[in-house]
Amino acid sequence: MSAQILSIRTDDAKGILGLDLDDGTQGELSYARLRAACRCAECTALQRRGGNIDAAEVVLNAIAPVGGHALNLHFSDGHTRGIYPFPYLVELVMA
Ligand SMILES: [Zn+2]
Repeated sequence: MSAQILSIRTDDAKGILGLDLDDGTQGELSYARLRAACRCAECTALQRRGGNIDAAEVVLNAIAPVGGHALNLHFSDGHTRGIYPFPYLVELVMA
């Protein structure tokens, strides 16, 4: 069983989403990394075609919980379709 997320915070100054896991891990995921890791149909198709997501300057505008099991992240490039299930966020932290 993978670690569970206890709390999530944002640090806009650093451009980082911080996650505390129940195994004591304190993870940090940059907004750029999260944007580039989007797995929505659009981004998946783009990457499958060999395209790159231009994420360097992206910041996080909003976080919306999705049914207690995922986060919907709204990015400053106008992309709001990304759904990040908690296990996927943990996977990114551990990667
Ligand atoms: Zn996407």
